[in-house]
Amino acid sequence: MDRWVCEPCGWVYDPAEGDPDGGIEPGVAFEDLPEDWVCPVCGATKDMFSKE
Ligand SMILES: [Zn+2]
Repeated sequence: MDRWVCEPCGWVYDPAEGDPDGGIEPGVAFEDLPEDWVCPVCGATKDMFSKE
């Protein structure tokens, strides 16, 4: 699965780790994240991420 980078802050979503603080378990592809999911660091929405 692909890693995705938050353009505003540089944080990387790694599907192998998920986003535990955001309630996302490891193994969830970026494409499968809820539409209202946001970057845990800066709050950017999914459309502000780009594939690494
Ligand atoms: Zn961010």
